[in-house]
Amino acid sequence: MERLQKVMAHAGIASRRGSEKLIKEGRVQVNGKVVTEMGVNVSNKDSIKVNDIPITKEQTLYFVLNKPRGVISSVGDPKGRKTVVDFFNHIDQRVYPVGRLDYDTTGVLLLTNDGELTNQLTHPKYGIEKTYIAKVTGSIDKQAIKRLEDGLDIDDYKTLPAKARIMDVDKRKNKSMVELTIHEGKNHQVKKMLKTVGFPVEKLNRTQYGFLTTEGLQSGEWRELKSFEVNKLR
Ligand code: URA
Repeated sequence: MERLQKVMAHAGIASRRGSEKLIKEGRVQVNGKVVTEMGVNVSNKDSIKVNDIPITKEQTLYFVLNKPRGVISSVGDPKGRKTVVDFFNHIDQRVYPVGRLDYDTTGVLLLTNDGELTNQLTHPKYGIEKTYIAKVTGSIDKQAIKRLEDGLDIDDYKTLPAKARIMDVDKRKNKSMVELTIHEGKNHQVKKMLKTVGFPVEKLNRTQYGFLTTEGLQSGEWRELKSFEVNKLR
């Protein structure tokens, strides 16, 4: 038996709090009866409807993909380009990416059909740590690293404190490698941060998402998470 709002959140209806609101508003039925009080427990045998639409309790699946370049991080593409979901076409359930990587960004991407975990991990309050290695134009210096770490203005937003490290500077080629760890995920954030300090990104790879890495995965390969890994993410 599980709490009704937890089952709803798991099915991706809304966050747990959002599900509680739907229950209070009388929009949820269990076995044909409207439920408005909190704390109702349900099992697999119960039929649950939200706004008169039955929710399906599918098996939850979790994958880590080493995303290649030239693939988009969405469920479908109007231009017909390959999407990260296409790697999982052989599976009956539909999984979707947790957050996004740009078309030309490579590396760790989590995919799941667990709506509750997705809501949790993408909530700004959760602040999951993401590490990127960027190849940039220019010889990056300590001042730029300090600005990246302290927080800087991108668009109308000030970035939160981050960790940054110079990995390599090739003065002759005018290129550098830099590692950046952030706890947020604004659109194109890493590229914008590095451009703001004067070092535009040429290549970007996400090496870590929380504790997840692409260890053992070639580009375009994926693996299913072990249950202890799923628990660790929660
Ligand atoms: N930041 C970016 O600029 N691009 C990504 O794909 C991820 C983080």
